[in-house]
Amino acid sequence: MAATTVYKEPAPRVDAENPLESMMSRFNVATEILGLDEETYDVLKAPDKQVIVHIPVTMDNGKVRVFEGYRVIHNTILGPSKGGIRYDKNVHLDEVKALAAWMTWKCAVVDIPYGGAKGGIICDPTSMSAGEIERLTRGYTLALKDVFGPDKDIPAPDMGTGPREMAWLMDEFSKTVGATSPAVVTGKPLVMGGSLGRTEATGRGVMVSALAAMKKLGMDPKTASAAVQGFGNVGSWAAKLLCEQGVTIKAVSDVSGAYWNDNGINIDEAIAYKNAHKGRLDGYTGATLMENADDLLLAEVDVLVPAAVEDVITEHNAHHIKAKLIVEGANGPTSASADPIINEKGIMVVPDILANSGGVTVSYFEWVQNRQGFKWTEEMVTERADRIMSDAFEKVYTTSQKYKIPMRIAAYVVAIDKVAQTYRFRGGF
Ligand code: GLU
Repeated sequence: MAATTVYKEPAPRVDAENPLESMMSRFNVATEILGLDEETYDVLKAPDKQVIVHIPVTMDNGKVRVFEGYRVIHNTILGPSKGGIRYDKNVHLDEVKALAAWMTWKCAVVDIPYGGAKGGIICDPTSMSAGEIERLTRGYTLALKDVFGPDKDIPAPDMGTGPREMAWLMDEFSKTVGATSPAVVTGKPLVMGGSLGRTEATGRGVMVSALAAMKKLGMDPKTASAAVQGFGNVGSWAAKLLCEQGVTIKAVSDVSGAYWNDNGINIDEAIAYKNAHKGRLDGYTGATLMENADDLLLAEVDVLVPAAVEDVITEHNAHHIKAKLIVEGANGPTSASADPIINEKGIMVVPDILANSGGVTVSYFEWVQNRQGFKWTEEMVTERADRIMSDAFEKVYTTSQKYKIPMRIAAYVVAIDKVAQTYRFRGGF
């Protein structure tokens, strides 16, 4: 690492909605701090491989619809590529490319032997039947059978997918290779090689890194308050586990709106309500529905946890954030143009590639267990995952202190440095 490079704010993005540019502008700042050589820069700035597939699916009405899907392998120098598959109507290639690169950085930050990848299919799973989603998942798997593999590229859940889809993927892949192949995918149901602790892993990592950051800021969890945007797997688990640590969760939100309770929301009750109401909080009465859901981000709380989608904190609303700490459960929730504003306000950010890396960490444990053919106890999983998260947090924090740079750039510096060092040892170009 170069010793005395001065931190420069990332340049504002041309297109405020493009996550790839958001990722690249942070990447550029970090590579300058590291004094990265031009060759390695050129290798890392573009994905190794991008695959576009068109998947014909017979819909329930008998008509065939063709879906567009992607798998982007960003980099594999540290090991087989790893990353989830997103089912969403707004999926686009630049987003998948950004998410794939974030997986490379994420795995490097927590020091697990994986490269980065991401997949996505443009579809609206909320308006599709289970049968249609199954046929789509199997079609996608077949189309990518030469890309996926336990030693090549290992998918996992992301937005719009979960254990059910991973089971179909594992089954379809296993058929093509003629042998049950559990290690080809993580986030599987427990009965078929899933890991204990995987479901809550991302939310747990958010909690562990939030607590570590609160400690640095001298914030007592027992008197701190938080707002959590997104009440899916990551948001609901982060809220529940922070609540268990004594944090008062004053606001939560999902697609149905944002809910506020000044005395703290009973998270177990809210989760039970959500589970009984098709996964949504519509009509939840344990809190008041806020007039404007986006106001959750500007709420009078100590900790803000954006755990939904990309680009929700922008140059337009960052000025009005009151939280002293932001812990990013989602991938890319803060656009690069908001970074200087947040830094100037002195808000500490635990960036996505650190805060939400608990998910892929336990995915790694699942893959290790599948390959060992030996199931770990929940204690083994949690204890090891928590240690990895705390160590990664400390490393990023120390780097941010050393170079006097924000935590986000420090996380990129740690990640890119590891990847670049590996290139130096492996060579090959
Ligand atoms: N989709 C998750 C993420 O963005 C998990 C990836 C994985 O477990 O491979 O980190």
